[in-house]
Amino acid sequence: MPFTNKYVILVLIILIMVIIYYFAVPFIKHLKLHQETKKLYASIKSSPLPWKIFAKSEQGRDIYLFEQGKGESTTLILAAMHGDEQNTFHLAVKLADTIHTKPELINSKVVIVPVVNPDGLLRNERINANKVDINRNFPTENWRPIYEKHKYNPGYEAGSEKETQAVMELINLYQPEKLIVIHSDLHVLNYDGPAKDLVLRMADYNGYHIESNIGYPTPGSLGAYAGVEGRIPTVTLELPDNSPEEAWEENFEALIQAINFPE
Ligand SMILES: [Zn+2]
Repeated sequence: MPFTNKYVILVLIILIMVIIYYFAVPFIKHLKLHQETKKLYASIKSSPLPWKIFAKSEQGRDIYLFEQGKGESTTLILAAMHGDEQNTFHLAVKLADTIHTKPELINSKVVIVPVVNPDGLLRNERINANKVDINRNFPTENWRPIYEKHKYNPGYEAGSEKETQAVMELINLYQPEKLIVIHSDLHVLNYDGPAKDLVLRMADYNGYHIESNIGYPTPGSLGAYAGVEGRIPTVTLELPDNSPEEAWEENFEALIQAINFPE
């Protein structure tokens, strides 16, 4: 075989390996995770945990809530507001499971909503059934009905979506002392409102980098609504694009610390 042919074959093999590594492997990984997500969502119905159906999504799916602990102070933890951030849902369900089994881990009340946007979760899409980004739909001073990318569609009106209304109702009902919102996959801790000490505590345990500004405008976000305008210490925990197991390893202690904070 002439030398040039060998060279071409070698380059092709390297190219195929690169394609497999960077595209095929993540694609299959996400496909598999989505199957597991659908099973996990369906299993909540028959779970031994005292899940409550707090609200319904735009397509009538259940928005579940798990509540445990006593005391004046409540930590509200929300996940999967963006339906394609599947590892956030797994992390929140596992947290509820663990706290249910070991209630002594926490010193106050926690309310966990593992999936704010179940319609998006089951389709593995960021937006809800009306193609609205829930994290741009909150009634904040900077909310505008304009957007550049479809994935940031803020809805026809602030607070128009059932999923947004459910979160607003939760905040109103529980008046949480702090709010932890789990997203993926920017691999960073972001905060709004008086949450500096809380975010520092979490960073001590998960080692994530802290950003006070996510780097792009987020009108109508929950951080703006609850943190900036509502003055509730709000931490956005952005996981990396990791597996539910890795997300748990990295964040279990940080989340328990956040619930028990400031102790
Ligand atoms: Zn998100």
